[in-house]
Amino acid sequence: MAQNFLRIECHECGNQQIVYSRASNKVDCMVCGEALLVPTGGKADIKADVVEELAAE
Ligand SMILES: [Zn+2]
Repeated sequence: MAQNFLRIECHECGNQQIVYSRASNKVDCMVCGEALLVPTGGKADIKADVVEELAAE
């Protein structure tokens, strides 16, 4: 199974962070605290813009 990391950009402040696409914990923006990624039990619900997908072996 591919384990993808995503570079995402916060809608609120433009901060970019790397997150795991199937994260089990909510991820907030490190700068403004906006929720960037919300776990749903499967693939996470991404609230930010995906800038780039980073495939991890
Ligand atoms: Zn932000």
